[in-house]
Amino acid sequence: MFHNHDSILVQEYASLGAPYLTEVPTTPLRTEADLVHLNTALATEVGLNAEELSSAQGILVLSGNISFPGYESRASVYCGHQFGQFVPQLGDGRALLIAEIRKGKQYRQLQLKGAGPTPYSRHADGRAVLRSSIREYLASEAMQALGISTTRALSLTASADPVFRETTETAAIVCRVSESFMRFGHVEFFCYTNQLDALRNLLTWHIEQHHPEIDLGDTETSLHAGLLKWLGVVIDRTARMVAKWQAVGFCHGVMNTDNMSLLGLTIDYGPYGFIDDFDIDHICNHSDHQGRYSYRNQPRIAHWNLYALAQALSPLIPDSKEKLQNLLDGFAEVFHAEHSALFAQKLGLSSTQGSAVDGFIENTLKFMHEHSLDFTRFFRSISTLNPNAPGEENFASWQQSAFFPLVLGDEAQVNQAKLWLKQWREATNRQNLDIQAWKKKLDQTNPAFVLRNHLLQNAIERAQQGEFTEVNRLFTALSDPYDATQLPSEYTAQPPEWAKSLVLSCSS
Ligand code: AMP
Ligand code: MG
Repeated sequence: MFHNHDSILVQEYASLGAPYLTEVPTTPLRTEADLVHLNTALATEVGLNAEELSSAQGILVLSGNISFPGYESRASVYCGHQFGQFVPQLGDGRALLIAEIRKGKQYRQLQLKGAGPTPYSRHADGRAVLRSSIREYLASEAMQALGISTTRALSLTASADPVFRETTETAAIVCRVSESFMRFGHVEFFCYTNQLDALRNLLTWHIEQHHPEIDLGDTETSLHAGLLKWLGVVIDRTARMVAKWQAVGFCHGVMNTDNMSLLGLTIDYGPYGFIDDFDIDHICNHSDHQGRYSYRNQPRIAHWNLYALAQALSPLIPDSKEKLQNLLDGFAEVFHAEHSALFAQKLGLSSTQGSAVDGFIENTLKFMHEHSLDFTRFFRSISTLNPNAPGEENFASWQQSAFFPLVLGDEAQVNQAKLWLKQWREATNRQNLDIQAWKKKLDQTNPAFVLRNHLLQNAIERAQQGEFTEVNRLFTALSDPYDATQLPSEYTAQPPEWAKSLVLSCSS
């Protein structure tokens, strides 16, 4: 039941049992849950039957009222560094693993977020409110459509059960999907509780399951080499993921080590945000008073978190200090290369790397920052420029573009923009360019629409009144953020003034 004939329910992770996982039943809601949205494409991809999942029985499973047939739900233990401080015990406080599905070589885990307390809830209620569940549900799929590695979202169910935050809200549950939900914090937990054999077994399982290309062999030496190789992969994936965040103006908001995936996936969508008016020091989480997780700091913090991971791994690899250091030093190079390549593509430049390109990228971000230009609209407007046209002509066609990002009355801004245009034309350095192909490629690189906070806020306020059409509309739009002709005009427009006053905090 629930899975198609091409897939099977398995207990691969579950069979690890203690000390990693504890059986914890989901807590049924007191009022009936409705299925707000089902991601039917993802259901099919995973090997699940969308029709059965939408049935009364299916909704009971997706809202945690009954267990997935044949599987006992489980919570895992981890710890982590939160805002730089070590917190010795965390864990799945409101996430429960409810199934593992194998479809040929493809393996996926299903987790319910908000299905009741666990031994790791630390006096909290184990619930998630409608507001935060809508935010996680939509962001997961928005990131996926932008080509950024992320956990996925299968379903959103909601009920009238009250949940107490700053005000009384209602409960909602996201069923999320991933190859693994393991975090840097899992490694930290077994290191700092001095359970090194358990850590070694967990990592052996994890690497065999998710990195079959890494051979751990059967000697100590081969194990050490395998672990180092694996750390290199985590570093590489994390660096690329954060470079992609930067390239769409995404801020995660809570980059604690317990929110960092061992597979380099964007995980745990809380007070995240896509930047509207560009500010390089943008902080999307109101609770982040120091700006530790600001846009500018994201790469540095990812690197810091990787240090914490390497530190926790080091007891398993004797005399490895220098090797670990070398691997960590590699972060900057991977990040830098990916960042340059992505921004060069966004700017439509011919060369993707080199100091001239890097200098121009830096100047562009400075220009955007100084004039608070809308991140998404600025990049989207570049396809209306012509690398072969003189400055005045370029400025004129730019001005007519639907995505024109400047305030025309602002003379200083216009002059700066003209200067930037001149530099841009030099940097593009294009001869024999097929302009149509170039424009098309740019419009497939720079989204016309991102999941802006005010759009989410609209959808949330309507959902809180029991009206979910806007959630549906956003979901449809975010699956193809590149085709402006298919998007509602308010999704691609400059955000309204009130968007600037929206505040997001850790509370969810
Ligand atoms: P976060 O900052 O949302 O990633 O959460 C940090 C830790 O707090 C994790 O261990 C979560 O499982 C836990 N947590 C957050 N909210 C709740 C909640 N409402 N009930 C139980 N645990 C929670
Ligand atoms: Mg978390």
